[in-house]
Amino acid sequence: MSSTALSAIRLANTRAVIGALDAHGGMSRAQLCTATGLSRTTTHAILRELMDDGVVIEGPATPLGGPGRPERRLRLDPGAGVVMGIELGRSQAAAVVLNWSGVVLWSSTTAVDDPLDWDASVAILMELVGRATAPPRAGTNKLRHALVGLPGLMPSSPHHVGTDERDRRIADVRSRLTESLGVPVGVTGNTRLAAVAEFRGRGLAQETLIYCHLSRGVGAAIVLGGHLLRGATNSAGEFGHMRTTDDGPPCHCGSHGCLETLVGTDRVLAQARDVRPDLQDFDDLCRRTATDPALRRLAEDTARTLGRAVGNMCNIINPEHVVLGGDLVRLTDDWDVLVAAGLDDTALGQVQEGMSLSTSLHGRQAASHGAGLLALDHILGRANLLESDGSHDPTHH
Ligand SMILES: [Zn+2]
Repeated sequence: MSSTALSAIRLANTRAVIGALDAHGGMSRAQLCTATGLSRTTTHAILRELMDDGVVIEGPATPLGGPGRPERRLRLDPGAGVVMGIELGRSQAAAVVLNWSGVVLWSSTTAVDDPLDWDASVAILMELVGRATAPPRAGTNKLRHALVGLPGLMPSSPHHVGTDERDRRIADVRSRLTESLGVPVGVTGNTRLAAVAEFRGRGLAQETLIYCHLSRGVGAAIVLGGHLLRGATNSAGEFGHMRTTDDGPPCHCGSHGCLETLVGTDRVLAQARDVRPDLQDFDDLCRRTATDPALRRLAEDTARTLGRAVGNMCNIINPEHVVLGGDLVRLTDDWDVLVAAGLDDTALGQVQEGMSLSTSLHGRQAASHGAGLLALDHILGRANLLESDGSHDPTHH
């Protein structure tokens, strides 16, 4: 078994121990073995680490009732701290605060109106983070680590030292958050973070999952047999730039007819306004699509185009799970069914046989939740199950 697989098991076992202590309160070592189904040796080794980290504390020896010698009860230290997961996307900013067992203590989302106005977007993010750390939330609980997700491609290599606009923004958001939160803050890509949340949320370990992010930008993150696929230059999964037509609109990547220019939310809203000029915004479009046949047809056409592209990707990867997330998913309440119709046009029968297609478990919190889970991995330590982007985390070596 690979060392990554072993550390993944170790991390899952650590979570099981923390989860049991969180659910049952004070427990003896023997009770903990029974509750988790882990061996004595494994349980004791994990407890030693958690006690060294100050996460688990031991009470005085007390009789447990029944025969046998008194045992010490173990419990989570309420002052052990929390982690924060943060997202700055092209259409929203989001933050979650998680405790040691991954339970969400607080979460919030704020719309980003103009993704091109960087300073305004960061101001929205900083206001959100300020609310997350205000008492009585994380304020009463020591913040141990934070991770922020940003849209678009991350640098191609860990040793990349760039000076372009993207690099300046990564440095800017990291330094502002680090100063505001007082802990080192890691930075990575939003879509990958959302994939982490969806993978974990489904209790997966070794499976293959494709997460498709469908908002202003369109991209995917591929978890291949439990490992995040980075690619040679850290840009795997960019299916939004799959050219789907020769006469399509120009794309910011320099090409034209990219999938993103056809199914991105800005384009869908623009097309909807051609038939319904009074539409206020994307939320208004979502509301009216349910009852307006012309808007419903537009949604079906969009889903079909998207589904065909997803089906092409599935033929190459052959995943067990495809998850659709982002704003576009809110367009209809049967979005996965509409996309499945397009997928059926292109995906081989044998590919479809082994896969499930579903919408996001975490909705607008997917990326921030994934960021929180990875921040937790970071302090539990020692292993980072899915994310190989740890190089962009100054505290991760
Ligand atoms: Zn493009």
